[in-house]
Amino acid sequence: MNVIIPVAVPFAAVMLLWLYFRPPFGKNIVRLNTDQRVVALTYDDGPNPPYTDQLLDILAKHDVKATFFLVGNRIEKHPETVNRIIAEGHQIGNHSYSHSLLGFLPPAYVQREIERTDNLLQRFHITGEIEFRAPVLTRFLPVAWVLAKGNRAHISCNVWSWDWTTQNPDRITEKVLKKTKPGSIIVLHDGKAENKDANRSGTIEATHKIITVLKQDGYQFARLSDVG
Ligand SMILES: [Zn+2]
Repeated sequence: MNVIIPVAVPFAAVMLLWLYFRPPFGKNIVRLNTDQRVVALTYDDGPNPPYTDQLLDILAKHDVKATFFLVGNRIEKHPETVNRIIAEGHQIGNHSYSHSLLGFLPPAYVQREIERTDNLLQRFHITGEIEFRAPVLTRFLPVAWVLAKGNRAHISCNVWSWDWTTQNPDRITEKVLKKTKPGSIIVLHDGKAENKDANRSGTIEATHKIITVLKQDGYQFARLSDVG
């Protein structure tokens, strides 16, 4: 007894933490299912005009399609930007309604946040599955639980741009290029959760640089729905 308790209690604590932060069920997608030189550019926290529009101009100039994970309360505020994203052939996904840290909230709250934004996105008559990415990529137990119940994957990434810490285009570009490889899902931000009208000029300039270099390296760009 005296020996079992000091071993069993920390063991149980570690197992509970592991279950909470790394739920061993449900699907967490971190890369595209390809070994080809194909990557996905993904943009979170928009729509955020005029920066989202400037970004769309850059993507159009390079004839590159991307995926935008949109926040529900921003969709309500800027439906015209959502229309433009869709009209120009990009994919849109669900990034919750209010960008709360869903991983620390009850499952019923998580479910409401996801459904509310699903319902908003349905109004734009998009076809195909709506992918979901949790705010701050916190696929912790409540999020994993709700998604698994709905038989839905969580879209994560394997390349962080760190553009939420800097808007220096060269630093963002360097961070992304250092980690990018075939099949990478790259996360960038055309908006900013805590500062709704944040200036994203650095991300936009970095996007131009990243596409230019990767194209020279023979890379192609896909929406998430283009690759299984
Ligand atoms: Zn976000």
